[in-house]
Amino acid sequence: MRLDDKGVVITGGAGGIGLATVERCLEEGARVVLADRPGGDGPGLAVSLAQRYGGRCSFVAVDVTSTPEVDALFEASVERLGRIDGVFSNAGIASSRRPAVDCPDDEYERVMDVNLGGVFRVGRAALKLMMAQRSGSIVNCASGLAVLPRPNSASYSAAKAGVVSLTGTFALEAAAHEVRVNAVSPGYIDTPLIANVDAQRRRQMVEIHPLGRLGLPREVAAAVVFLLSDDASFITGTNLSVDGGYAAGT
Ligand code: NDP
Repeated sequence: MRLDDKGVVITGGAGGIGLATVERCLEEGARVVLADRPGGDGPGLAVSLAQRYGGRCSFVAVDVTSTPEVDALFEASVERLGRIDGVFSNAGIASSRRPAVDCPDDEYERVMDVNLGGVFRVGRAALKLMMAQRSGSIVNCASGLAVLPRPNSASYSAAKAGVVSLTGTFALEAAAHEVRVNAVSPGYIDTPLIANVDAQRRRQMVEIHPLGRLGLPREVAAAVVFLLSDDASFITGTNLSVDGGYAAGT
């Protein structure tokens, strides 16, 4: 198995892409900390996954906008996993759809704080541990909108572009310590994040993918598992599109 006995932490692990990745990591033999906001489905999901996968899954509550909570997540994860071999920094929120001129400060700041600030805090905490142990792989969740922005998503696209940039800086700073850092950039994936769009918007989302459909959470999970695994041992600093051809230009 690709992740046999590896310790993996996944933020936003109760959501669409996060949960699919938790499950795929468990199938590949990993021991997983499913981290997500308190009050959601995370604790129950972790219990049922632990029952299915020999106790290899547990839940830790975290808000990635809080540095103390992110640091506590990694302390708890080290206690449970012994060492942390992989991190999928995946927690994120959507922005509302409106032109930049109509985007209020509080929405801009919230989207940046979760989607970019969260990846910074999680990466900083993970890198400290991984650089000291001289091994590890981090995957950050960006978006196709990071490099090919579209109208009405200024804060989201800017935050995700920042994630791609951070991924490069982290990769360069960590490479001498045998730690790899990469990003995945999904196209539109059929998850709760995009569940509330109307039929016309959904059709537009389908049409921007040359493959002519939305992506599935498990299709992103497969790319993340590859980047976390030793199969990707010479890959760092890259941004892997999982987008049905969107980044190729539509
Ligand atoms: P979901 O909404 O299904 O999952 C996101 C998860 O992140 C949820 O469990 C959510 O918890 C959690 N989360 C949100 N804010 C915080 C926070 N402050 N601290 C900790 N956890 C938090 O969305 P997806 O699975 O679709 O998204 C996963 C990632 O993929 C995101 O980074 C998103 O931007 C990215 N992405 C998604 C695309 C798509 O089309 N679905 C396209 C491109 C990128 P809660 O439910 O409590 O809010």
